[in-house]
Amino acid sequence: MPTSYVIIGDGIAGSSAAETIREGDPDADVTVITDEGEALYNRILIKEFAKGKLPEAPMSIHQPGWYDDRDIDLRLNTLVTAIDTDAHSLHTHAGDSFDYDKLLIATGGTPTQLPVENSDAEGIHHFWTFEDARSIAEDVNEAEKGVVVGAGLLGIDFAAICGAQEVEANYLMRGECWWRYALSPEGARIIHEALEAKNVTPVFDSGVDSFEVDDAGHVTAAVAPDGETYDCDFVGIAIGLDFNLEVLQGTDIELDEGVVVDEHMQTSVEDVYAAGDLTRFYDVILGEHAQNGSWGSAKEQGTVAGKNMLADAPEAEFRWVSSYSITHFDFPFLSFGHPTIGDDSVEASFGDDEWRRLALKDGKIVGGVLIGNLAPQSKYKKLIREERDVSDCKDLLMEPEVDLDELATPAGQ
Ligand SMILES: Cc1cc2nc3c(=O)[nH]c(=O)nc-3n(C[C@H](O)[C@H](O)[C@H](O)COP(=O)(O)OP(=O)(O)OC[C@H]3O[C@@H](n4cnc5c(N)ncnc54)[C@H](O)[C@@H]3O)c2cc1C
Repeated sequence: MPTSYVIIGDGIAGSSAAETIREGDPDADVTVITDEGEALYNRILIKEFAKGKLPEAPMSIHQPGWYDDRDIDLRLNTLVTAIDTDAHSLHTHAGDSFDYDKLLIATGGTPTQLPVENSDAEGIHHFWTFEDARSIAEDVNEAEKGVVVGAGLLGIDFAAICGAQEVEANYLMRGECWWRYALSPEGARIIHEALEAKNVTPVFDSGVDSFEVDDAGHVTAAVAPDGETYDCDFVGIAIGLDFNLEVLQGTDIELDEGVVVDEHMQTSVEDVYAAGDLTRFYDVILGEHAQNGSWGSAKEQGTVAGKNMLADAPEAEFRWVSSYSITHFDFPFLSFGHPTIGDDSVEASFGDDEWRRLALKDGKIVGGVLIGNLAPQSKYKKLIREERDVSDCKDLLMEPEVDLDELATPAGQ
């Protein structure tokens, strides 16, 4: 009997797992189920589509023929509603059932809604799917004034979309700077100035208490906690991701703000694996469980899960330093590893438009942000992978040219 593999989610994690499984087991039954109406596309690039910089075509990664060629059964527009891990089966909204020998949960997340009055008004957008991008592109094209909420990596995409579509916008942020968990005000200043150059005004220590709407139910203004009103006919909200865990209710799969998996992407329940944004994975470099929302990480987790789901395969381990770049500005920007955690940090500016910061934990680098010059990234990532204790040489890390030979020897050597 061929082994039956079922994958929920055709994002980059699910799709990579399907490809890996097919390569490792030519006889297997492989089914990929997604509630979206299109096969894997490049989620990273949909912002360029919304900015009006790219047509639809290059967004697609897999045409349906890709699945046919590999004898992978792709089920589009199919929502999985329940899983029975004892019976090794799952159920869909249409009343269909699928049996599995091995199951992968790769259902990602859904943007968090802002819990304020009128947040479901016309003209207010969240951003995760290609459908969202189409609707954003349509609305922003007609808009004159925008408001963006959410001072993180997805919020800045909305700000860049407003900038590219010549919508004058206010970017309402909590705290005194953009992405305050990873950047200091000094580093964020470079981002703020770049936003202003695109006619997007950062507004600090702010947020939204409610939205005002017209008779047709279209947003007309955002009201901040200090009572200030920001006129707008387009709003982008990016305040976080709620992981799609509903299908796991009633199972014994361990959850902790995500699906808990070990370094092999195995959940707490036999024959059930998870990969991608929704995992709380054991990070073998950090030595603790961690989370990461990035394309490369989700892809690698899918591949590792696929390898480990194969019968008799040698165990593969997820050992990864993630990267996330922003390409909206004239200068490069990269965050890597876990830049928002740690018990220490070191940072430096080089002129007006180059800045870097490293986050450290127990004397080791765990992540960082580079603005203006990405040259040191490979050295910093190497230090993370080697788990080097750099507590005695933090100043050397901030030299314009980082010299690894001058730094401490790898831990345990
Ligand atoms: C606008 C935007 C820009 C981004 N830019 C970058 C970037 O520059 N760099 C970077 O590294 N990362 C970026 N990311 C993040 C990156 O795209 C994600 O980390 C990655 O796509 C996660 O992949 P995934 O497979 O885990 O989840 P997803 O891509 O979210 O896929 C999960 C799939 O499962 C489906 N699903 C959910 N529940 C069910 C169910 N019950 N039944 C059936 N199907 C279901 C979902 O509809 C979805 O298709 C960006 C994300 C967005 C939205």
